[in-house]
Amino acid sequence: MTVKKTRLVVIGNGMAGIRTIEELIKMSPDEFDITVFGSEPKPNYNRILLSPVLSGEMMFQDTVLNDWNWYEENHITLQVGKTVTKIDRFHCQVETQDGITTPYDRLLIATGSNPIMLPIPGINLPGVLAYRSIDDVEKMLAATKTCQRAVVIGGGLLGLEAANGLALQGMDVSVVHLCDWPMERQLDKVGGDLLKAALEKRGLKFYLSRETQAILGEDKVTGLSFKDGEQIAADLIIMAAGIRPNIALAKNAGIHCERGIVVSDTMQTYDPKIYAVGECVQHRGQTYGLVAPLFEQAKVAANHLARYGRMLYEGSAVSTKLKVTGIDLFSAGDFNVRAGDEELLLQDAARGVYKKLVLRNNKLRGAVMYGETVDGPWYFQLMREATDVSELREHLLFGQVHLGDAGRGGASNVASMADSAEICGCNGVCKSTIVKAIIGKKLFTLEEVRSHTKASASCGSCTGLVEALLANTLGGDYSAQTSKKPICSCTDHPHQDVRDAILKLNVKNIPDLMRALNWKTEDGCHVCRPALNYYMTAAYPGVYEDDSRSRFINERVHANIQKDGTYSVIPRIWGGVTSPKELRTIAEIAEKYEVLTVHITGGQRIGLYGVTKENLPKMWGDLVEGGFVSGHAYGKSLRTVKTCVGSDWCRFGTQDSTGLGITVEKMTWGSWTPHKFKIAVSGCPRNCAEATIKDFGIVCVDSGYEIHVGGNGGMKVRVTDFLCKVESEAEVLEYCGAYMQLYREEAHYMERTAPWIERVGLAYIKQHIVEDAKGRANLYARFLESQRYSQNDPWKERAQGKDAHEYTTLATLA
Ligand SMILES: Cc1cc2nc3c(=O)[nH]c(=O)nc-3n(C[C@H](O)[C@H](O)[C@H](O)COP(=O)(O)OP(=O)(O)OC[C@H]3O[C@@H](n4cnc5c(N)ncnc54)[C@H](O)[C@@H]3O)c2cc1C
Ligand code: SF4
Repeated sequence: MTVKKTRLVVIGNGMAGIRTIEELIKMSPDEFDITVFGSEPKPNYNRILLSPVLSGEMMFQDTVLNDWNWYEENHITLQVGKTVTKIDRFHCQVETQDGITTPYDRLLIATGSNPIMLPIPGINLPGVLAYRSIDDVEKMLAATKTCQRAVVIGGGLLGLEAANGLALQGMDVSVVHLCDWPMERQLDKVGGDLLKAALEKRGLKFYLSRETQAILGEDKVTGLSFKDGEQIAADLIIMAAGIRPNIALAKNAGIHCERGIVVSDTMQTYDPKIYAVGECVQHRGQTYGLVAPLFEQAKVAANHLARYGRMLYEGSAVSTKLKVTGIDLFSAGDFNVRAGDEELLLQDAARGVYKKLVLRNNKLRGAVMYGETVDGPWYFQLMREATDVSELREHLLFGQVHLGDAGRGGASNVASMADSAEICGCNGVCKSTIVKAIIGKKLFTLEEVRSHTKASASCGSCTGLVEALLANTLGGDYSAQTSKKPICSCTDHPHQDVRDAILKLNVKNIPDLMRALNWKTEDGCHVCRPALNYYMTAAYPGVYEDDSRSRFINERVHANIQKDGTYSVIPRIWGGVTSPKELRTIAEIAEKYEVLTVHITGGQRIGLYGVTKENLPKMWGDLVEGGFVSGHAYGKSLRTVKTCVGSDWCRFGTQDSTGLGITVEKMTWGSWTPHKFKIAVSGCPRNCAEATIKDFGIVCVDSGYEIHVGGNGGMKVRVTDFLCKVESEAEVLEYCGAYMQLYREEAHYMERTAPWIERVGLAYIKQHIVEDAKGRANLYARFLESQRYSQNDPWKERAQGKDAHEYTTLATLA
């Protein structure tokens, strides 16, 4: 029996419609019989890149996102150059201008927008063009061969890109704009004036606060007159006065429309068989004119068309960047200052730098940046995640690099970096490789850059730089995720949603969780499985059964794999204190197993290097007998507690830092955390244990203990934030346990404490750990409870035979 496929008809072969199909094919490759109608006689192309085509920096073929083969390979019937003129909802079919009738089970409307053509005399004269399609660009390029003077009506994003493109083609270009400065919706007056001055330097003329009355000419355009009577000459006029959602077709079919086609959070119109995405859509009262939100809509629509039925589109925050080479401009959110708002300003006329940040209730509401935009994606992230910035405030305006850089980006302006500059240290990927991949492979998102170039795919410390490169290369900020990022491509759910679902749905194993959340792959991947395993461990201590297949190799075998395939073994040395007897035991074991290197680590432990996999359990057996437990040096877990000698020996020591370090380590060892976790205790502010670059640092002072959090001594050093001061060791333990538990319960898997704190804000941590005594006590209690199940020495268990299959070599078959 052949299964009847669902007939899906798409009206609109543009960016939103085809992105929905791409998503749908990934989710449900065989379920649909798809027909696409497109008025334009072209395959699906990247409309955003029309400006580089106009300026001569790109060819049309570079903008094609899916060529003819793609439609064929995916068995999509493509009807190009065909305009749909009727949706017959009663018979569930669509009709084209030339009489083709196509039935549907589901319909997707993605008709985009129409450019606004001002209703003024002369608007239909030859020589007046819109700026929306490749056809418009081709006409403009043809005109540059015969025309000299162009006037662009509209000084918004599109108008300026058109004006710049025409000027680069050698035309004399004027911009006419109703407002006092260009891009008034994205820039305030100061930023707008700087932009105007920069464009004037490139030869553009501006007619600001001017209203066009008529376009002049008999058989073709000769000029333009303003309401105040002045006239200017022109032989080409570009209308870039705005766009209007293209809703005529939907409206005629009786589908509820206001400014756009009204859709719900599932991207359904009032007719549940009919979905709509893209610029033609009005969602929660908003219409969008940039691609980032449209791509999110596409994901949601595909999810529902494929009957997964789990995602909701809840609206998007957008940011803007002008694609005019050499002009750095970024704006996001609402930057108009209202009552109750605070404004942070930086203006450096000599360097042509201007920044304005608008805060309300300690949260960033809007940002305008001109001349220096490398921090744009970071500000945008703070805005989207509604981070409390009170603790960052002092340095906020100066950018992320002034925070000590916790590994989210920073560094210098990506635009001015050399092509050979290394962006991703882990994978050795340089700037030009990333830029080439973005352009050549038509990448839009961080995920895509990661999978094509590996940049930002390892430690993630260059994520900010890669995002800045995406924004810089592509102009429009369709690179930055406009809402929360999914864990990996196996799911559309971000980390927090998964964590919430685990508790809400009360699921206690990975397969059930994947089923409940409609995972796209059967078994997940190396990114999501360890995350889910960790989230389950943290949510259900003592109940959830650890899944060793969902651990990285180091955690699976409880030792670090080294570059020659052997392993290193690091016993726990409590608080960094050992004894001759322990040293003798370690030395004997090292000799017995012919360890190649004995190394004292930076965390005051002894590392034994060059151990074969088969020897691991036997060696652990001996270590366990000698009184040692695993140092967890391989794990996303508590690693070391480093100490100095403190008041026991040091002339400056104020407290027993060694003793406290040992107590803290005895409490915290064995705990699994989102990423590795390091602690240090220094006996006085001279800080010999380097407590201020640890995840949790304790600095003993005369009157008690200073607690510091969020330090990182790795690739990008970050100094801790001061959390508070306490008076007793008991309090240190409570604060430490509570803080670790908050991190365990709330951070994303693979997120160190440093970027976690920058994401949620120090004020948030203080609110939960310092200000809320009851909350702190509860967190501490949950930490201790979970420790009851995690302080089983994994070495002892394995020395006794657990997971023996991991350590036995396969027989060699002749
Ligand atoms: C020059 C330019 C520069 C831009 N720069 C940026 C930028 O830097 N950053 C950014 O984020 N966004 C930018 N945008 C906006 C971005 O291109 C749009 O948001 C996006 O293309 C909208 O996608 P869509 O699918 O809704 O509409 P479109 O991509 O316009 O697709 C709609 C398609 O539907 C077809 N259609 C309409 N009616 C019918 C019908 N009745 N029958 C058949 N087919 C029909 C149209 O021909 C069109 O091909 C730019 C746009 C332009 C024009
Ligand atoms: S931190 Fe202070 S107490 Fe500890 S060893 Fe250094 S000087 Fe001495």
